[in-house]
Amino acid sequence: MSNTNGHSANGGNPVENVIIIGSGPAGFTAGLYAARANLAPLLITGNDYGGQVSITYDIENYPGFPESLSGPELVEKFKEQAEKFGTRVEFDYVNEILVDRHPFVVRTSGGAEYLTRSIVVSTGARPRYLEIPGEKEFTGKGVSYCATCDGFFFRGKDVLVVGGGDSAAEEALFLTRYASRVRILHRRDKLRASKILQDRVFANGKIEMVWNTIPVEIVGEGGAVTGVKTRDTVTGEEGLLKTDGVFVFIGHLPNNDLFPGKLEMDEDGHLITDRHMRTNVPGVFAAGEIQDKVFKQVATSVGQGCAAAMATTRFLEDLHAGHQVDWSADPREFAAPRAAVAAL
Ligand code: NAP
Repeated sequence: MSNTNGHSANGGNPVENVIIIGSGPAGFTAGLYAARANLAPLLITGNDYGGQVSITYDIENYPGFPESLSGPELVEKFKEQAEKFGTRVEFDYVNEILVDRHPFVVRTSGGAEYLTRSIVVSTGARPRYLEIPGEKEFTGKGVSYCATCDGFFFRGKDVLVVGGGDSAAEEALFLTRYASRVRILHRRDKLRASKILQDRVFANGKIEMVWNTIPVEIVGEGGAVTGVKTRDTVTGEEGLLKTDGVFVFIGHLPNNDLFPGKLEMDEDGHLITDRHMRTNVPGVFAAGEIQDKVFKQVATSVGQGCAAAMATTRFLEDLHAGHQVDWSADPREFAAPRAAVAAL
């Protein structure tokens, strides 16, 4: 590990205090808090600006907005507030991080190379695919992972929603604005979705439930979906449901391509953090759905982003105070908040 001397080897550019990777609720909140701690954070957005919230039509459960607001509106508010205090937002995609040296190195697909004393990872998650025949072939031709984006194209048509969680319920309700009929295919006979969403689904005359059923193939003609081959999960009986569109909401996978061999992950690919949002590398913190497989709410991601920025601030204060960092030690083994820096 080299010293953090405030200057980099990359053309004398200053070393960043903190680079935030990702522009969802966790990332922008980390930006807000880091900026207010005078760290002049650099936030690199990634390709999916705003993260999953940006493809959410209506957000009813983010506190402070009782009338609800759209995902893109909320993202703009997050960005405006983070920038107001000095977060610098770069529309670029991080394609490599080097965390086996310090300052850390962050490289982007836009060709930038940054040195940074700390990193907050908030790369979020992406939709899980069914991985059945026809899915790839008909993506964008009737298969969709975003009702907000594509619902409009199904005005007066028949659609199937796959999944039984909050996303499936919420998106099915949204699709009733356009579609003539929405059937929810679920592999069990009970929804996982929250009670309030279940009540709305069951009360909606346009929605029908297809219980104990999984899709096994998506079929079509002339480049458009015409139906879904199904299997009954109880009887094994096979069937065919004719439809114009298939919306898939069967959970999410963490965006972790940057981390294998560098940061510790669990068996599902989430970064493993402690309650101070520390990863196994001192100075690298994580927040939001890249490390949270339990709550996955805008409100919880915001809280985790805040905590990660506060922990980062403490880490940098210790670094600037000249404390020695034991780079070989896993900071999560230290109980105290400040013990990201060893020898305290
Ligand atoms: P989720 O809660 O993990 O639900 C995924 C659903 O897909 C489950 O019902 C699951 O069935 C089903 N499924 C999984 N793999 C499948 C497969 N291969 N084939 C068929 N079905 C499959 O995911 P989510 O609905 O995207 O929600 C993710 C998180 O975001 C949750 O914590 C949720 O509360 C949150 N969220 C909240 C809101 C809100 O508060 N308004 C909105 C959206 C999401 P089983 O039930 O049998 O496991």
